[in-house]
Amino acid sequence: MNIILLGPPGAGKGTQAARLEAQRGMVQLSTGDMLRQALAQGTPVGIQAKAVMDAGALVSDAIVSALVGERLDGLEERGSIFDGYPRTRAQAEALDQLLSDRGRALDFVIELEVDEDALVERITGRFSCAVCNAPYHDIYKLPKVEETCDKCGSREFKRRPDDNEATVRTRLGEYRAKTAPILPYYEQRGLVHRVDGMASVEEVSAQVDAILDSSISD
Ligand code: ADP
Ligand code: ADP
Repeated sequence: MNIILLGPPGAGKGTQAARLEAQRGMVQLSTGDMLRQALAQGTPVGIQAKAVMDAGALVSDAIVSALVGERLDGLEERGSIFDGYPRTRAQAEALDQLLSDRGRALDFVIELEVDEDALVERITGRFSCAVCNAPYHDIYKLPKVEETCDKCGSREFKRRPDDNEATVRTRLGEYRAKTAPILPYYEQRGLVHRVDGMASVEEVSAQVDAILDSSISD
């Protein structure tokens, strides 16, 4: 199964992708994580992307699609969750090509619908495990044991430099201008399912699961 999680920054894409990876053995393909990893490793792509990411703008279509293509090879038998990709029409077309080259196709595009005012609070409260990247929030999702990662037990956490209010506003503008307009591309193929992203993590999870399970009974 190949699915896209679509929604503005802070909508809950990474949270759902990490959960689906743990519960269903699917693979999370987050272009944001790939770019941050490239930067941490000091690759030319990472160094080039840094200023763009810090500003909250979009990295070039060619760079992100190449990263996804590299990661798709070898994942044929496992389902893929595209998180934060595609973000433009050109990326949506590139993804179709990447999948069809490998004899695969999209099953669902799940749009997480959210209230923009809530996103700033979600993003400025976001932090994650420094070791395994498990996602947390200052108010909505604290580790079960204080200052200890639920998943790997690490006691080190990190915050993203671009998770500040000014950059979030730019990222929201990019989403509205370039990403939301790709929805009709998928709507005309009957792939889009909407989920109330303002509900609790548990309720969003249940809505996402109901969509994925609908393919089994079809
Ligand atoms: P969020 O989960 O908050 O939406 P991401 O981790 O997906 O953020 O992305 C962080 C930054 O990485 C983006 O603001 C952008 O600069 C860059 N980026 C990530 N994915 C893409 C993409 N598909 N196309 C262009 N830029 C991207
Ligand atoms: P995205 O990947 O779409 O940018 P995240 O999954 O990183 O979004 O979520 C942003 C922040 O909001 C994180 O701190 C996460 O713990 C929190 N969060 C995610 N889903 C929900 C939800 N349904 N209700 C409240 N907080 C949430």
